[in-house]
Amino acid sequence: MNDEALNPTARRRVSAPARAAKRKSIAAKAEEWLNGAADGCYCDECIAQKIGTDDRRKVQATTIRLGTQNASSKYHGRCSLCGQVTLVTSINRNWI
Ligand SMILES: [Zn+2]
Repeated sequence: MNDEALNPTARRRVSAPARAAKRKSIAAKAEEWLNGAADGCYCDECIAQKIGTDDRRKVQATTIRLGTQNASSKYHGRCSLCGQVTLVTSINRNWI
């Protein structure tokens, strides 16, 4: 069977890594991105953009949750990406 070559949809369906990425929640993606981001602080809007979602409320819920944990903080500051002064999240890498 070689339907996959002719049918891009079928091909996408068999791509396991892509499927896993799609299933990953916005919260997981936001957290992962922040953990991998360069030092700095980032607003929800930029994080949403970076992980490719329009759902800023989910991103916000994630950063609020992260901000209550010791390893990160959420505060009013200047976003390292867009330069806006707003609520930003940063990961405290020296914590551990
Ligand atoms: Zn920003």
